[in-house]
This record gives sequence, structure tokens and C-alpha cells, in this order.
Amino acid sequence: MTNPIRVGIAGYGNLGRGVEAALSQNPDMQLVGVFSRRDPATVELLDSSVPVYAMAEVEGFQDKVDVMILCGGSKSDLPEQGPYMARFFNTVDSFDTHAKVNEYHAALDAPARESGHLAMLSGGWDPGLFSLNRVYGETILPEGETYTFWGKGLSQGHSDAVRRVPGVQRGVQYTLPSETAIARVRSGEQPELSTREKHTRECYVVLEADADADTVRHSIVTMPDYFADYDTQVHFIDEATFERDHQSMPHGGFVIRSGLTGNNNTQTIEYSLALNSNPEFTASVLVAYARAVHRLAEAGEVGARTVFDIAPGLLSPKDPAQLRKELL
Ligand code: NDP
Repeated sequence: MTNPIRVGIAGYGNLGRGVEAALSQNPDMQLVGVFSRRDPATVELLDSSVPVYAMAEVEGFQDKVDVMILCGGSKSDLPEQGPYMARFFNTVDSFDTHAKVNEYHAALDAPARESGHLAMLSGGWDPGLFSLNRVYGETILPEGETYTFWGKGLSQGHSDAVRRVPGVQRGVQYTLPSETAIARVRSGEQPELSTREKHTRECYVVLEADADADTVRHSIVTMPDYFADYDTQVHFIDEATFERDHQSMPHGGFVIRSGLTGNNNTQTIEYSLALNSNPEFTASVLVAYARAVHRLAEAGEVGARTVFDIAPGLLSPKDPAQLRKELL
């Protein structure tokens, strides 16, 4: 067997932990270490034999890491860490601020080209696997509509908003795709769907002792920007139920392309994900792309890339002949 691909993790939150777990399922890869802005002594890994280093030391690892998987947040960590890391490493990240993706691509491309590295941005599932399915859909069925539905999924931002409502002790928010809307899309109708028609929102709340349920419910469902444009259900539960049923980070959704070909035949393409842990799944995607990035970098490619630029066979640990035989 060839030498394992040496991987580093930059930033250790939910996604970083997921990458550590995913690497343990891929024997052709080896985790060299985790880099954190926090005091390394305070960062506890799943496997305590893996070293944690201060982020400030990362430049010293240029010859020891083949691919650095960046696990910082998209909002403020990656815009800073991505371009910096691309000067020293081949990188993979899950940048998910759709509106700023070209800006971020440019910010990675220049340092990666200058230093001779490959920087893969926006891996994961959305953006990521969902993006690929949107491209397949609209290219194969040029006359049609593409629909993306999310959920059932925990939304961190909306959960924070629920927790800020006076009277709420603990709270989570799930986004759910509307079954009615999905059925209409699957039927080939190609409906125009409003925000309210596509998704509903569901909140689970533990009330503070003296809080009034109706007042809390009203404050949540009428909250502008977060809930006012949706049909929102609020469920009040006790602390033990909250602990038991609302600790995981589920997510997922559907990408559906509905189109017409030739003699007015309706054609539907559907891709769906049902994830019990969003960060663990996202991390598994990043690890597969780290393998592809390593191979492309070894072949001399440099610059920024997205899922659109990377051939699927490169993700697999299997060689091309084996892939053709088993999966074609
Ligand atoms: P976290 O908030 O858990 O972690 C982000 C960073 O915060 C870490 O890299 C870590 O950096 C720091 N951090 C983590 N825990 C602590 C702590 N206890 N105290 C202080 N700092 C801490 O974010 P996630 O890992 O959940 O998500 C990262 C990003 O992944 C998201 O911003 C999102 O954009 C992206 N994502 C993308 C998806 C996709 O499909 N493309 C899907 C899901 C997520 P450090 O170790 O340096 O302190």
C-alpha cells in the first residue's frame, strides 16, 4: 500500500470532531494533528493520542501535512483562514455563504496559485452534493425547474432566536419541507412555491417556571425575519424530554428537477439526504474530497476548485479499473 495521505484539521468544533471520526473510517488517510486557536491543553479530541497544536504553529507543518481540512465557521473564520492556509497547504473547506462564493473563490485562488497549492472550497452537502445534483438536473433537463427543500433539520440561527425570547429556558428549531409541496413537485406540475408553501418550522421549548405559554408562542410565531413568513408550530416540553429527544443535529433535504423532454414526457430527478448528524456527514464529504485534492495536487494542479471541477472517481479509494468493474 502507498503511504497514507497525511491530513490536518484546522479548527475543532462540531465539524472538526466529525472529520476526526470520518478519518478513522478511511485507512488510506492519517490524521497528523489538530490545530486550534484555543489553548491546545483545553481541546479534547475523540482520540487522545492525536496531538493538538496551537494554530500559530501551523506554518511549521508544511512538509508534514498533505491536505489541511478547514473546519472553521463560514461567517468569519474561513474568509480569514482559507486564504492564509492556501499559502502553505492544499486545503478543503465547507464554506456555505452562497452569496459570497465567487469572492471567496478569488480570495483562495490567488494565494493557492502563487504558492503552488490546490484549495477546494464549499464541500459538504449544501453547498456540495446538492450543488452537483442541481447541475446534473438543469443540464440534463434544460426545460424544467429545480427545487431544493431542506429538512428535517436543526437550524442553529433559528434555535438561537427562540432562546432569546423571554420565558424560554431551552429551545430548538427544526425546518421541515412541506409534504404537500414535495408531492406537487414530484407530480411534474412545476409549481411556483412561496416561502411559506415550501417549508414549515417547528420549535420545541422548555419554559421558565413563571413563563406564560401563549405569550411565548405569540412572540415566536410573529418574530420578523425568522418566523413571521412561515407556518410555525411551537411545542412545550419538559426538560427530561428535551434532553432525551433534542440533542442530535439532524438535517437533510431534497433536490428535485422536474422537466419535459421530446414528446412532452415528464421526467423527474430526485436526490435526498436524511442525516442524523449534519456535522458528521458534512465531515465525511470533506474527507472524500481531501483524497481527490491530494491526487490532483500530486498531478500538479493548483488554484481554487469546487465540486463542479472534481471528477467523482477521484473521491474513491478504489482505482479506476476497480471502480469500472464494480460500480459502473
Ligand atoms: P463550530 O461553531 O462548532 O466550530 C467553529 C469553530 O469554532 C471551530 O473551528 C473552533 O475553532 C471554534 N470552537 C469550537 N468549539 C469551541 C468552543 N467550545 N469554544 C471556543 N471556540 C470553539 O461550527 P461547526 O463545526 O458546527 O460548523 C463549521 C462550519 O461548517 C459552519 O460555519 C458551516 O458554514 C459549515 N457547514 C457547511 C455545510 C455544508 O454542507 N457545506 C454543512 C454544515 C456546516 P478553534 O478550534 O480554532 O477554536
